Amino acid sequence: MHHDESRFLPYTDYEKLHTMSVTEPEKFWGGCAEYLHWYKKWDKVLDDSKAPFYRWFVGGKTNICYNAVDRHALGDKRGMAAIIWESPTTGKSSVMTYFQLYREVNRFAGVLKNLGVKKGDRVIIYMPMVPEAAVAMLACVRIGAIHSVVFGGFSTESLADRINDAAPKVVVCAEAGSRKGNVVPLKKIIDDSLAAAKVKVEKVIVLNRGIGELNLVAGRDILWDEAMEKHGEVFVEPEQLDSTDPSYILYTSGTTGKPKGVVRDTGGYMVALHASMGQIYDVGEGDVYFSTSDIGWVVGHSYIVYAPLLKGVPTIMFEGTPDYPNPGVWWDVVAKYGVTTMFSAPTAMRVLRKFPETWFKEKDLSSLKYVFLAGEPLDEPTYHWATDALGTKVIDHYWQTESGWPMLTNMPGVEFLPIKPGSPTKGAMGYQFLVVNEKGEEIPRGEKGFLVAKGPIPPGTLMTIWGDDERYKESYWDFYPGKMFYHTGDFAIMDKDGYLWMLGRADEVINVAGHRLGTREVEEILSSHPKVAETSVIGIKDDLKGEAISAFVVLKADVTPSPEIEKELIKLIRDKIGAIATPKEVRFIHALPKTRSGKIMRRVIKAVAEGQKLGDLSTIEDGATVDEVKKALETMGVDK
Ligand code: AMP
Repeated sequence: MHHDESRFLPYTDYEKLHTMSVTEPEKFWGGCAEYLHWYKKWDKVLDDSKAPFYRWFVGGKTNICYNAVDRHALGDKRGMAAIIWESPTTGKSSVMTYFQLYREVNRFAGVLKNLGVKKGDRVIIYMPMVPEAAVAMLACVRIGAIHSVVFGGFSTESLADRINDAAPKVVVCAEAGSRKGNVVPLKKIIDDSLAAAKVKVEKVIVLNRGIGELNLVAGRDILWDEAMEKHGEVFVEPEQLDSTDPSYILYTSGTTGKPKGVVRDTGGYMVALHASMGQIYDVGEGDVYFSTSDIGWVVGHSYIVYAPLLKGVPTIMFEGTPDYPNPGVWWDVVAKYGVTTMFSAPTAMRVLRKFPETWFKEKDLSSLKYVFLAGEPLDEPTYHWATDALGTKVIDHYWQTESGWPMLTNMPGVEFLPIKPGSPTKGAMGYQFLVVNEKGEEIPRGEKGFLVAKGPIPPGTLMTIWGDDERYKESYWDFYPGKMFYHTGDFAIMDKDGYLWMLGRADEVINVAGHRLGTREVEEILSSHPKVAETSVIGIKDDLKGEAISAFVVLKADVTPSPEIEKELIKLIRDKIGAIATPKEVRFIHALPKTRSGKIMRRVIKAVAEGQKLGDLSTIEDGATVDEVKKALETMGVDK
């Protein structure tokens, strides 16, 4: 544990700290906020008079960019690395110091300002994993413009939807991304999206990386370098923003219909992120942080860009995939820079697990203290694999785009609680979690129910849905009339020790003859079979039982499907859960449909199985997996 002053730690005991954070939120978060710079102190830490529209540090004035950049660049970290960029897909890398970052952010803030971008205007950033993306984000928050980063893998249609919803004044992009050595033509997607969108965008700033087509549109497009030359400024005064001014909009993935823009505030988000670095991630002076996510996701916003910079440590930005050009790439980065703290996703660990352990065990990972994982359940076998192959502490933690930072987690910066593999531990500071039934009544420990957080939820969580306050209430707060509960939408168990066990999305719960089963319960058991690589289960209509289980199983590379394996899998389920969970059918499949952030798209599997419309597929990683599901249904299954 670090002995650094820059975090608010009245206790080194999880229970005590957590209790204080929920019983005295104003004292707790007020203490955390003292470590940051405010132009004007807040009048009130928490205003809950319009709950569930909780507002933090009301009356306070601050600027995230000032706190993340100026504070260090003009202080004692001038020459220290801020953004370390590694791009195995293009064979390039670079290091930008805090002062260089300060300079670039000021220049780009000048560009935006001189192109007419003002406080409250939206800017869409559609960029690959390059340092300029972080520069653009920070320049926006410096002048109070609201950025909306759209993942560089999204298609024309999803980008056009987001342009229509956010109505940006300016779009910032690069001409191309790079994936496994191949060029991804981003500029073409921008052009097509802008042509398709109803909202007209005035200016497009294009970073030319020299790898793809530019196709500049006269009068609308301007090159990044040229814009910096012409409009860049040495210093742009940071806008003194209200703590409650929005900092960004981030659209949630995988949903149908109109995109849902999560709106983040300024002061609350900044304080929560800064506190999370010390208290949760145990990061302080001397640490090097490496989050393998993408800036297009919430993890990238919070833990590639804002939190490490707020904390004043180097952050590693990685352009590429964990297995290109070989499965050792991430671990070479760890060895090269002495990374101490990593943040990744279980899905990445499952990808790496397919390769021989020598890829990891032969690297020098001695600097690495923790690998934090989030995004989906971390199954026990993968937990053990990662702990052993990487020789470090592996920490499962749970959160959502909406929360902006961890909700359930171990908090090694405060006290390292015993790990129970398969559980993301307990509520983070500021969260009071309950497991409830449909009426919102708390249920006994050990029983399955819905995970809710009692209001007020802590700073940094979403303020609302962009342009739709009603949808914010409906989506998260209106499930249990008369109760101020944030509905996570997840199904869970709280055990006797207060640890939470996540069982899958609540709307994917399978109801077999009145018994409610979480998708994860069944999947975890199927995955424990030595021949199974991955599985996904869905509920299908059944005349007798209401719903029955249909299991899709990916076998390990060298295994061929057979009726014997199927029998073994069914026996496993019967033994471990009971006859009630016996799958009605087992379908062997080569690959599962997943989102680009690695989440299994059960909704898509279910739609194919039921012959329904597939809905929005813009977030799918590999469209061919839909045909895999179709094929599995036609040929490879053995119906009971
Ligand atoms: P997103 O907002 O797209 O990041 O998705 C959030 C959802 O991912 C949560 O509501 C959970 O269903 C799931 N999730 C995230 N982290 C975990 C975790 N550590 N364990 C289980 N499920 C998780």
